[in-house]
This record gives sequence, C-alpha cells and structure tokens, in this order.
Amino acid sequence: MIREDCMFCRILDGEIPADIIHESDAAIAFRDINPQAPTHVLIIPRRHISTINDLDAGDEEVVGSLFMAAKDIAQQEGLAEDGYRVVMNCGEGAGQSVFHIHLHLLGGRLLNWPPG
Ligand code: AMP
Repeated sequence: MIREDCMFCRILDGEIPADIIHESDAAIAFRDINPQAPTHVLIIPRRHISTINDLDAGDEEVVGSLFMAAKDIAQQEGLAEDGYRVVMNCGEGAGQSVFHIHLHLLGGRLLNWPPG
C-alpha cells in the first residue's frame, strides 16, 4: 500500500526521483541522499511498514528480503571482503527520521563501534 504522506512510498511510486540500484519483488534499494560513508544505500520494503514495532507475524519474508538485498548489494559494491554495516533505526530516539522501515548499508571506510 502506498502512503501519500510517506517519502519512501513516493520514491516507490516514482513520484520522487532516487538513484535506485536494486529491485526485487519485495524490496528496492537506492543511494542515500546524504551519505555517511562512500557507500550508503537504503533498502526498503515495497509495502509500507512504519517502524520495527509495526512488524506483524508473517513479515519474516519481507524482513529477510532486506537482508538478502544487503548481501547482494555489498557484493556488487565490492564491500563483502573488507566489511560493511547494516543498521535499522527504530523511533526518534534512535535517529529514525523517515517512518518507512529501511536498512542502512554503509561501507567503504572504517566504521567505528559503538556508533553515536
Ligand atoms: P533514518 O534517519 O534512519 O530514518 O534514515 C533516513 C535516511 O533517509 C537518512 O539517511 C536520509 O539522508 C535519507 N533520505 C531522506 N530523504 C531521502 C531521499 N529523498 N532520497 C534518498 N535518501 C533520503
């Protein structure tokens, strides 16, 4: 379901342009507009889900599709050997600013731990 008030749904709908680098039946991935690393890709489900808290029983496949996309994109981007990070923020306190779940895939530089 597309939500008119959701920026990522509008990207899915083609209303807002994005540099889309991966598409599957369940998910798409595009480059972050404000990259925090040489590679910074967002992987989102085609179906609108606001936060991790809104996942339902039965969403295992859609969540799994995000990680399978991350694996393929990391390979494509040449990150698999050196390492990369995938992270999903949940809620404002964790820094979530777009309320359509998305996996951040970051790589191409040394990533410190713990994150800020
Ligand atoms: P979060 O803060 O975890 O919700 O992540 C949202 C991410 O979406 C941020 O890293 C933003 O830079 C990114 N972002 C926001 N609008 C766009 C857009 N139109 N195209 C690509 N990335 C975007």
